[in-house]
Amino acid sequence: MVILKTPEEIELMRESALIVSKTLGVLAKEIKPGITPLYLDKLAEEFIRDHGAEPGFLGYNGFPNSLCMSLNEAVVHGIPTDKPLENGDIISIDCGTVKNGFYGDHAYTFEVGEVSPDVKKLLEVTKASLYAGIKAFKKGNRVGDIGHAIQTYVQENGDNYGIVRELVGHGLGKSMHEDPMVPNYGKRGRGKKLKDGLVLAIEPMVNLGTHRVVQLPDGWTIISADRKPSAHFEHDVALVNGKPQLLSTFDYVYEALGISSNEEEEFRKK
Ligand code: MG
Ligand code: MG
Repeated sequence: MVILKTPEEIELMRESALIVSKTLGVLAKEIKPGITPLYLDKLAEEFIRDHGAEPGFLGYNGFPNSLCMSLNEAVVHGIPTDKPLENGDIISIDCGTVKNGFYGDHAYTFEVGEVSPDVKKLLEVTKASLYAGIKAFKKGNRVGDIGHAIQTYVQENGDNYGIVRELVGHGLGKSMHEDPMVPNYGKRGRGKKLKDGLVLAIEPMVNLGTHRVVQLPDGWTIISADRKPSAHFEHDVALVNGKPQLLSTFDYVYEALGISSNEEEEFRKK
């Protein structure tokens, strides 16, 4: 069942989403070779609690930490470890919060030191495909149009990319995973109609190789089947007056990393 949100609920969801955005900004400042994922996890948990929220992932279906941290070939749902990050790694950090009963849930894939050009391009293409998907989240479209936009963008930017199919975006609200499911591939005009008040977590996961994935024996970590690097970017987006409006932002990450970008401009609350 799809649960549409009122304008007031959307503002509460923006609060939850912004705490995640700011947490990712705090982490962005710390990420470098030698830092451990577990240290970042503790930092995130403290920051989330200091801002009047609860970590959304800690204890979720028994997940042991506040952040999902997925290193290199790990796609999503990685468990933070005490193994220091190394130059050339990429680490996808997915963070969840709950405040006022509503979830925030988004993710960014960070470079550790200097990464190879093909990995850098994987990150650029995956992030840009997220915005292509957000652009298709509008009145008159259906869920399939979002996946179609993501898939088209990725495929136009290289034939060596695999779009993960087993894991998908989702509705977001008082539960972390609500209807509808939002695949990162699809056909135009298929699926549920997009309506005002719908809030989605849109989250392309793209591998630098096969789209196939496998789960590690830890019961959580999903990795690419050929062990090639994988990227994941996620935003929380509401449909307002027929247009996509970002509840989350990468501004804090960009500020920490010294990146200037206008990719979010058209999706901001005016
Ligand atoms: Mg997430
Ligand atoms: Mg999600």
